Amino acid sequence: MLHVLFAGADRQRDHTAAEGVRYCPQAKRITIKRKEMMNSMDLVSLHPNGIYQIRLPMGNPAWVNCYLIPDNGGYSVIDVGMHTETAVEMWRRASEQIGFTFEQIRSIVITHHHPDHYGLAGWLQQQSGAPVYVSSLAKRQIEGLWGENRWLVGSMLEMYRENGLPADVYAEMVQHWQGNGEQVKPHAQLTELNPGSSIVIGGEHYEVVDMPGHAAGHIGLYNKADRLLLCGDAIMPDSLPDTCFVPGGVDESPVESFLQTLKRMEAYEVELAFPGHYDPFSGFGKRLDELRELNAERQSRLLDQIRPEPVTAFEIYARSFPPAASILQLRFGFTETLSRLRWAQELKLVEPVRQDGVVLYRST
Ligand SMILES: [Zn+2]
Repeated sequence: MLHVLFAGADRQRDHTAAEGVRYCPQAKRITIKRKEMMNSMDLVSLHPNGIYQIRLPMGNPAWVNCYLIPDNGGYSVIDVGMHTETAVEMWRRASEQIGFTFEQIRSIVITHHHPDHYGLAGWLQQQSGAPVYVSSLAKRQIEGLWGENRWLVGSMLEMYRENGLPADVYAEMVQHWQGNGEQVKPHAQLTELNPGSSIVIGGEHYEVVDMPGHAAGHIGLYNKADRLLLCGDAIMPDSLPDTCFVPGGVDESPVESFLQTLKRMEAYEVELAFPGHYDPFSGFGKRLDELRELNAERQSRLLDQIRPEPVTAFEIYARSFPPAASILQLRFGFTETLSRLRWAQELKLVEPVRQDGVVLYRST
């Protein structure tokens, strides 16, 4: 079902039963082509300020959100989904349901470089001719992971190897990295958009907010006038974001960056947050506190696995996480472990020792 949120105090009633829509008291300035909305599935919801949420199915989490914001007779898009046939089909269906053409897209902003957010940027740019905005750190990682020489992939694989990834899993990981370029093709022409600047969408200013932790170079967009925040995967309503360590000097301590992001965001008044997965949520300030607690819990669970006898990060990962269902899930858990070990090292709770080209960790 498509959830359409109506505007104005004169609409203080629930339209769900009669018209297949849901009332939201926060909604405003919305014009709706009602006819197109009637036969919709859960693919699209409409929110305050006329922001459309497009859910592209992806497994775990169940979907990734792309947001479409009205922009001078057209739209600007925040995040685009991974390049799969299904996602392209969903974009086409969304354009029919909402009633826009790809040529109407004015700009495409990507919150972070992960394929579920960036993957279709090049395709959508081809359809629309719109600029694709990313932070300079995100650009560096996109080029390093999927650009011409993919220089960052070698560093990633070496990091996995020296942190104890078993040889058979390592071989699978090499294949995984060789194969995953398809999800992000064609490559987009990238324009830098960095924290401290702002972008105007539909006549409204959106501040570009620095939100690293889950990914280096992760940005959010904050609309101060309406207290709306598009926050990608930096702050999530239903789970603690993974903190993924990437070599190459993009972020030396993702967990520390995540905590700083939580702190930085305390200063922002947010009435409604639009995350990269799950549905938009209120109670943003409370969520920051919850995430701080969840972060401390996850960190202490990991520290429980560290003993005076040195072990590799992979062994610590295997003790701390349930068996991974896929190589991608293993990769996220493993790099999350590496991030947390780096943080523990900063706090002088663990120390690394090198033996025969392999890094081992022991408690201090
Ligand atoms: Zn994501």
